[in-house]
Amino acid sequence: MALESHLYPDADTAEYAVDVSSVVHDTKLGGERPVELARFYALIAGLVAYAKNDDLRIYAVADWSLVRDRRLTDKERSTLLRWHRRGRIELLDPADDRLLELAEGSGQLVVSADSFRDYVPRFPWIAGNRDRFLLHVPDPSGTGVTVEPRVMPIPFESEISRKLEEHELLAMGLYDRRGGKGPRRDLLSRLWRCPEQDCPLFGPQEPEFQPLPRFYNDAAHCPTHRLALEDVGGVPRRVQIKVRVGGVVRRRFLMRAGQQIPVGRAPGEDGIALAEHLGSLSTVTAHELSRSHVVLKWTGWKLTVLDTSRNGTRVRPPHGQGPDRVLVNGESARVKPGEEVVLVEGLELLASGREFAFTADDALGSQGGQSGVGDGEAGGPDEDAEGFAQTITTVDRLRRAPEPADFWRPPEF
Ligand SMILES: [Zn+2]
Repeated sequence: MALESHLYPDADTAEYAVDVSSVVHDTKLGGERPVELARFYALIAGLVAYAKNDDLRIYAVADWSLVRDRRLTDKERSTLLRWHRRGRIELLDPADDRLLELAEGSGQLVVSADSFRDYVPRFPWIAGNRDRFLLHVPDPSGTGVTVEPRVMPIPFESEISRKLEEHELLAMGLYDRRGGKGPRRDLLSRLWRCPEQDCPLFGPQEPEFQPLPRFYNDAAHCPTHRLALEDVGGVPRRVQIKVRVGGVVRRRFLMRAGQQIPVGRAPGEDGIALAEHLGSLSTVTAHELSRSHVVLKWTGWKLTVLDTSRNGTRVRPPHGQGPDRVLVNGESARVKPGEEVVLVEGLELLASGREFAFTADDALGSQGGQSGVGDGEAGGPDEDAEGFAQTITTVDRLRRAPEPADFWRPPEF
């Protein structure tokens, strides 16, 4: 039976879905060239042996970009196109969505080296999955390719938030994927005003909660009125803190650069009171929460926690890997990305990976207290290695008069 006859056009009856790009790029599987179709042939043979099924049905999926990849030979590329014409491979951009839909809907095993971290928000079952993914590996015998089961990684809460935000930014033309530069900080660090007087999104009221502008034709636009927005200044740098109780995020609040916010059962009017969120904790545990348990401080690039409680506070490493740091009697500590501040067991504070796009239920933690830098110039040293706390440096900008948007064109991405 020719190997390619295992490539089956009907996704629903195939047993395995293969991420062909992942396989042909994996130089550990042998071969001389960076991209080789022979690795995929070897994988087909390996899967047939692994499944002990001579009649195995494989659904092959690849990005269109693979067919255009000049590192493949002309013969290899025409083979892919021939398969495509005969329904032996599905080509689409991007292929990842399709693979995950298949794994979710038809229950196929997915062969890929991708961790699909970007997709955890849409397909939460991926995180920590142990029975749906296989990795292509060299056969231990020294020739050929086989597969082994994978345990999928669990991204940090902050990684998931950041990925969600990336998708939102991408949709608004505010994420530079091709240049690899990421978020358009030059645009996202600004406050905008819509020329339309009564604009509900970019009017003069509540500038803290401006939604994302839409970027196209080289200017930021109001998504409602399709008018170019005027730049009216810098936005203060913020971080979003999530309050998780019993495994569920019950509340989010924002902190501006320079703010200090007490958090506890009832920390006073400038603080975040959690009394109403303790229902899912045992009475004993809930009583361990002090009136003012901690004070959080956000400098614009660093988050620190100060213990003000009777029973102490713990800073827990990501996924609980490693010992907690215990803070008592006014000790303080820096909270790194992925770390959780445990007030009592089952009640944690987490810094979100979001930097720019916040949801409507966010409220500023405290309007009073130490006020934030109001002009967005939260510069400081270039301590931007933190992930969630990268410093936006605003530079002198040429103020351009808003140009009338004479035609609407959907953003390119
Ligand atoms: Zn508007």
